Amino acid sequence: MEITSDNPIDHLPADELEARQIELLKKQLTYTLAHSPFYRCKFSEQDIAAISRLSDLSGFIKTSKKDLAEFNAEFLSIPQREVVEYVTTSGTTGKPVTIALSKNDLERLAYNEARSLEIAGFSADDIVQITTTLDKCFMAGMAYYLGLIKLGAAVLRAGQGTPEFHWEMIRKTNPTALIAVPSFLQKTGSHASAVSNRITKALCIGEALRNADFSDNQLSKNIKKHWDIDLRSTYASTEMATAFTECQEKQGGHLLPELIILEILDKNGNEVADGELGEVTVTPLGIEGMPLVRFQTGDLARKHTGVCSCGRTTPRLGPVEGRLAQMIKLKGTTIYPNQIEEILHNHPNASPYLIEIDQDYNGLDKVSLVLPETFPEEESNRLLIDLQAKLRVKPTLKKSSVSAIQQLLFRGNSRKPKKIIDLRNASA
Ligand SMILES: [Zn+2]
Repeated sequence: MEITSDNPIDHLPADELEARQIELLKKQLTYTLAHSPFYRCKFSEQDIAAISRLSDLSGFIKTSKKDLAEFNAEFLSIPQREVVEYVTTSGTTGKPVTIALSKNDLERLAYNEARSLEIAGFSADDIVQITTTLDKCFMAGMAYYLGLIKLGAAVLRAGQGTPEFHWEMIRKTNPTALIAVPSFLQKTGSHASAVSNRITKALCIGEALRNADFSDNQLSKNIKKHWDIDLRSTYASTEMATAFTECQEKQGGHLLPELIILEILDKNGNEVADGELGEVTVTPLGIEGMPLVRFQTGDLARKHTGVCSCGRTTPRLGPVEGRLAQMIKLKGTTIYPNQIEEILHNHPNASPYLIEIDQDYNGLDKVSLVLPETFPEEESNRLLIDLQAKLRVKPTLKKSSVSAIQQLLFRGNSRKPKKIIDLRNASA
């Protein structure tokens, strides 16, 4: 699969795009039926042949994260000797999930990421410093590396490190772009004015940069306070092995039509209207190692199908507005921890922080925030007023030492900071 700077598939009229996707979907489902022990009896050749619209996929079985964790080995669809890479996810139930990739899957991953980087404005002229984890069986860091190489860009495989370490690398090698988690850029950015650099852009993962209407969120504004940098958001997960990445218009991440089918479903499993919030459900295409059909990510976002101002006709995926597993129900309203985080980002002294969700003896959800003991009292009041006004939530504030909070962020040897402590199902 070759990449070109202006891929014709991104500009197809809607009906041609759907026809192309149906063809690839049928191929993927036929392969899955023949090779995946998990899906063997879940649908038939007739079901596949009957697909004439993408919406016909709604008749197929959905796959949950729980399915993938509980029956992990049954998803393996190639002989073990054809596996070239194992990556892991932490899994929602705590059970680690292994995803096995074939040689072609790895090539597909590189192609996917090169396409994504190109949409984000990266090219062979760039020198790119990767500041995210490259090892520990993570898929993402490897995908960026492979994608950048495929694109012909020069890579600085810096990996995880302190802001000081990264600025030292920047001084030495003068990169033009970064791949980073937004909150890391926020922390690192305060050094930006002190060190001369030619970094003009960053591909951002793990946290949203926009509000639902695509305006910059607080985190994005905070980063730009320190440096003039073009931030592009990309969304992906290990299971989907496919990225949705913003073009220069920043109106949602563009779907790569040759690599994935996207559905946004309501709680009854029905597709929501264009622009409505629902669960991101995906069927990745061209996968050999562990194909997934209608995989439910647990992430809530909106799909936008209007033609983008950049000229691409491919659907765009808005920012993740919440995760189903972290839904908090408060006296008739529903909120998600990331809405609380958006407000916390407006209070720079409230870092690091933890959001604790628990249930009271009536079975009602309650929220506590754990903040550094240095967080000033008068700002605590302002924060509570902010939360009450914008979310109608009045959490209990707890103070703790920075080191204790840091320890809890990486509890259970977690590879990523876990800012949400959900105690609701602790006894289950
Ligand atoms: Zn666009």
